[in-house]
Amino acid sequence: MVYIIIPVVILVITFILMYLYAGPFFKGLPVLVYHKISSTKKPDFLTVATSRMREHLQYITKKGYNTIFISDMIDYIEKGTPLPPKPLMITLDDGFRDNYTDLYPLLKEFNCKANIFIVAGFVQTHDNLGPRAEGEFMLVEEAKEICKDHVQYGLHTMYHQSYHKMTLGEIDEDMRISKKRLDDLGIPYQPCFAYSFAAYMKDDPVKQKAVFGILKKYGVRYAFKVGDRLNKMPMKNMNRLLLNRLHMNGAYSMFKFRMALTGFIRIVQRFERIFK
Ligand SMILES: [Zn+2]
Repeated sequence: MVYIIIPVVILVITFILMYLYAGPFFKGLPVLVYHKISSTKKPDFLTVATSRMREHLQYITKKGYNTIFISDMIDYIEKGTPLPPKPLMITLDDGFRDNYTDLYPLLKEFNCKANIFIVAGFVQTHDNLGPRAEGEFMLVEEAKEICKDHVQYGLHTMYHQSYHKMTLGEIDEDMRISKKRLDDLGIPYQPCFAYSFAAYMKDDPVKQKAVFGILKKYGVRYAFKVGDRLNKMPMKNMNRLLLNRLHMNGAYSMFKFRMALTGFIRIVQRFERIFK
């Protein structure tokens, strides 16, 4: 029995210490990734309740985190412009309409910044409701309104296809037309991309290198995967086309949110698997 108790106690103490001292041990930039923020849909892997999102923003504000834009991160990396204390980047993928209806009022209330990786072909216009016409995605006017103050955009493909399943020729064309559609709509975006379905060609280094070449050809200097890790600051030695984000699962408790924010969610999940 003692052979089990001792390692468990050591593990628990290590875990508590790591949690308490997360900041000093890991100087990293947390980049959170959300999808839907909804007061009507049931929370799930991709949907965080609006009330829970409010708690997240309340928590990060209270703890002294400062939300930053993609451009702030770029200036920090490329020009050495200092970031505010406890920098934190909030990102959302796809450009769902609730980002306008539910998230934007919260961003104003808490004076926070967010970055949306928008699927160019899903932006709704009055004459062309796009491939998904259920009103699920933001209208162009809404997308433009929120980027006047609290939001910046990044690229996230034309129709949310996985680059794993596309040829290099198709990926090249996807990058070209997604940039063109945003340009035509007058939606500004940063030279930053998020791989849809987190497909960053992990198991195919040859294709990955070719995709990096396509991103660079179109002026994209930064790209995010998921990975549930912090970005080790000062981020000079990181691959700028494989930056990390922390997935925000709508089913997370506030405890798990705090664990994710500090880069410990992988440890928590490992513990969960052990004691399941
Ligand atoms: Zn996506």
